[in-house]
Amino acid sequence: MPTHLYTPPVEHPDLEATDPGLLAAVARGQARLTPEQGLELLTRAPLHTLGRWADARCRAIHGHHLRTYVIDRNINYTNVCTARCTFCAFRRDLGDHDAYTLEPQQIYDKIAELVSIGGTQILMQGGMNPELPLDWYLDLLRGIKERFPAIHVHAFSPPEMIEFVEFFKPPGATLEDKIRWVLIRLQDAGMDSLPGGGGEIFAPPVRRKIGLGKCDHQAWLTTMYVAHSLGMFTSASMMFGHIEGYADRIHHMWEVRKWQDRALRDFGIPRPLELEPADAGDDELSRRYPASLRTHQQAGGHYTAFIAWPFQRENTPLGNLKEWGTVEGDFEKYGTAFPGDVVARLDGTGRKQDHPEFGRRLRMSGAVDYLRVQATSRLFLDNIYSMGSSWVTMGPHIGQLGLMFGANDMGSVMMEENVVSAAGTTYCLDEAVLCRLVRDAGFIPAQRDNYYDVISIKQGPEAPDLRVTNWAAHRIGKLYCQTGSKAALTIEASAD
Ligand code: SF4
Repeated sequence: MPTHLYTPPVEHPDLEATDPGLLAAVARGQARLTPEQGLELLTRAPLHTLGRWADARCRAIHGHHLRTYVIDRNINYTNVCTARCTFCAFRRDLGDHDAYTLEPQQIYDKIAELVSIGGTQILMQGGMNPELPLDWYLDLLRGIKERFPAIHVHAFSPPEMIEFVEFFKPPGATLEDKIRWVLIRLQDAGMDSLPGGGGEIFAPPVRRKIGLGKCDHQAWLTTMYVAHSLGMFTSASMMFGHIEGYADRIHHMWEVRKWQDRALRDFGIPRPLELEPADAGDDELSRRYPASLRTHQQAGGHYTAFIAWPFQRENTPLGNLKEWGTVEGDFEKYGTAFPGDVVARLDGTGRKQDHPEFGRRLRMSGAVDYLRVQATSRLFLDNIYSMGSSWVTMGPHIGQLGLMFGANDMGSVMMEENVVSAAGTTYCLDEAVLCRLVRDAGFIPAQRDNYYDVISIKQGPEAPDLRVTNWAAHRIGKLYCQTGSKAALTIEASAD
């Protein structure tokens, strides 16, 4: 039961979205944006206005000094998948020559490598593989916890959970009951939290076009709610910059915000959000981040983070679509409005038939669009603690800029990645480079855990970036991508 009553900030629908008084109140956590105001900010506010206020909100929550990262490893245990998402270059059918499922020992070996570089968690997700029984997962989780009790297992996104319900046929009268039955067993075996994979875009017309065979958004959100009810902390994600309209992005964030309100109301409140004095010096830092460095308030489960990234098109069926404005005759026939914007509604009730080219034309995202989404999500999602910057898709320097547009977290030092890299993204950083990016942006880098608690502040001569004597050595490294038979070295971009 919650120990405090959670009350969301109040909306002021009569005010313009760019009203400085409204935005100042939002930055302080004392006002909430309406969806209409969110859309107005996303599409029309000057970029520097958005950045300024998103940064103010971020500083009100996270202070002026530390920005975080985590050392974890993406382990994609299988690429066999019954779904056919059109944006996916990772999935394979059973029997394909490069289909794979990792042996438990391969997974343990990967975790041992992670531990050797100071890693604290694994992000374990895979395709929806009908060949794997529940006991395969339970034995794997128990095996991980026996060998690596301190490793946090962040695993199995909502679409996988919904397929587990389909494959394992658990008892229960409702979907919620069935999810709970499976989740309790996974949690008992060692699963600690759920990643926000598979969120994509919630609006049904978009989701039906791009997520073939994947759960709908109600099932996605319900899975997370059940996880929250079991005390788990989860993240939420959004993949944008494809066929969706701008209103679809706000609808997506709105759903996350509503369900977060519900989780906070039903299960507890997040850690207190305090303003940190702008002139806090080293003494102030020591007071705020005492020796234990653990600040996490015990509370029921909820979303701890939101991470948005743009669609990566290489090797994907969706990527074969033409971009809006590049097909002769489109504008003469239909006007210049992007089909996704014609169809999209803030409440998710868009109808695909409202534009004949809906789902057949892309609007890819660039740096400015990415930063607008980053900043808007920080302001709109007033009840989410952490916003992650997506350097993996946007590149290290746009990722660094994200720290000025509302992001407080640089995500993960990337040891291995198989899903986004299959769609063409090959950025790879080691801890020293990640720390340098944070420091060059004007902050002190700090390693965090899955709960966004700081576990180590990287200050002084032993900081990973400050002890580097030759940065050239940090340009060559190893990012592992899993192939059908073994982990192959495919990308050389950074490391030590
Ligand atoms: S995105 Fe995930 S669920 Fe969709 S096809 Fe790829 S592996 Fe399967």
